[in-house]
Amino acid sequence: MSLALETAKRRTFAIISHPDAGKTTVTEKLLLYGGAIQMAGAVKSRKTDRGATSDWMKMEQERGISVASSVMQFPYKGAVMNLLDTPGHEDFSEDTYRVLTAVDSALMVIDVAKGVEDRTIKLMEVCRLRTTPILTFINKLDREGKEPIDLLDEVEDVLKIGCAPMTWPIGMGKRFKGIYHLYNDTVRIFATAEGQRASEGELIEGLDNPRLDEILGDQAEELREEVELVRGASNEFDLELFLAGELTPVFFGSAVNNFGLQELLDGFEKYAPAPKGRETETREVKADEDKMTGFVFKIQANMDPAHRDRVAFMRIVSGKYEAGMKLKHVRIGKDVKIAKAITFLANKRDQAEVAYPGDNIGLHNHGTIKIGDTFTQGEELKFTGIPNFAPELFRRAQLKDPMKMKALQKGLTQLSEEGATQLFRPVNNNDLILGAVGVLQFEVVAQRLKDEYNVTCLFEPVNVSTARWVIGPQAEIDKFTKKVTENVAYDAADQLVYIAPTRVNLTLTEERWPELQFVATREH
Ligand code: GDP
Repeated sequence: MSLALETAKRRTFAIISHPDAGKTTVTEKLLLYGGAIQMAGAVKSRKTDRGATSDWMKMEQERGISVASSVMQFPYKGAVMNLLDTPGHEDFSEDTYRVLTAVDSALMVIDVAKGVEDRTIKLMEVCRLRTTPILTFINKLDREGKEPIDLLDEVEDVLKIGCAPMTWPIGMGKRFKGIYHLYNDTVRIFATAEGQRASEGELIEGLDNPRLDEILGDQAEELREEVELVRGASNEFDLELFLAGELTPVFFGSAVNNFGLQELLDGFEKYAPAPKGRETETREVKADEDKMTGFVFKIQANMDPAHRDRVAFMRIVSGKYEAGMKLKHVRIGKDVKIAKAITFLANKRDQAEVAYPGDNIGLHNHGTIKIGDTFTQGEELKFTGIPNFAPELFRRAQLKDPMKMKALQKGLTQLSEEGATQLFRPVNNNDLILGAVGVLQFEVVAQRLKDEYNVTCLFEPVNVSTARWVIGPQAEIDKFTKKVTENVAYDAADQLVYIAPTRVNLTLTEERWPELQFVATREH
């Protein structure tokens, strides 16, 4: 099949949601549709049988942080779906944000009872950086929750995105009877699904079908009235607005019952964008270009005790990857032969033979690959749009044995290069401040410092609440650095960072220095 056709089939997306909204359950069920049965049920307890040789690896296993579940590829009808995992619970980290820079669309999962929650708001902001189209699944309709109309208003108000209901729920909680598809004019009757099966509720054609009255009783007439109301009061789906990130098609259902997800998947296949090209520092690379290009958006320590290497995840932007091909590692200016890349078809860590735009492959990395790196077939290119995000949590590294300072610095620097944490060195003292967006990261770093660098270190609280990269005319930057010495630091790339003790302090500083920009993301 031609490159253009393979590319057109791809749908590369990630799930954005607040913990417990149902991301894991949705993932499992989506994989079921793809025939990746062995995967369903395995998402939750992503444990391996391999003996753990360190606490860090035990931690990885307990918390299900695994390379295999980072990228899941499964077929659906004519499409090839690439679902990128977004770590969400304690393992929430900067990776979660950065994964969103490697997708072409996102699925927002919302708990019908909880509505729009914090984490979803934050992840939505990240999606906005690249105006990523969003599909929405409202989950847990088998429970009592907010009125669907109110919920859509809430999404529109809080997230500033229009809602276009594609399906509409018939009752909820104990009265949940199914969903009506506003565009297909079909009703799917709710049926609970057990275990691995997709629920096969009866499908009824037409809202006027008397069969509806038979099954739904009074609720049939209620539904007809409600649908009329909804059609009048809500946005109609508009492909252009969806692709511009201004409108989200909304689907209702119950993930745990595998109900309503097929309609959602159909929506993905039909409307979600195929892989798009990407900007580089010099030109835009189109997905249909013949020459292969790609960028690295995530680096993960390998959980295989036998191979203490790391896996670099590369998104293919253009061209076709073939096993054994030679690629140029642009930053270091070297040609490397990629013999053993990993693909992620349905939980099997297979060696990638071929991969197309929108696909992701895992490269074995012995420390030469960094986040943001570009690979090409020879051209000097540097992809943009794979930033560092300002951390939200900060700790000072406290060394047990002062003789181990060199090892500590080396360890912190190297671990920061994997991208889940960032290292800051204040201008006016010798502190080493670690920043992260998820609290587990400090634990992980402490454990790995011990295992891999033989350094025992504690992370203690430090008076920093937020950080911003400082950009502006050099003279102004110099003036600023002198004036506010106690609150400035350099990051791993020697970029100047303002480390603010409070949010209010940050606002005041921004007002005081109007010629400077304080930005929350930094390009690699
Ligand atoms: P995650 O934290 O977003 O990955 O959420 P999970 O998929 O782990 O789901 C959180 C909890 O909600 C689990 O106990 C699920 O069984 C439950 N859950 C998920 N989907 C549904 C649903 O459709 N209905 C009900 N009643 N519970 C659900």
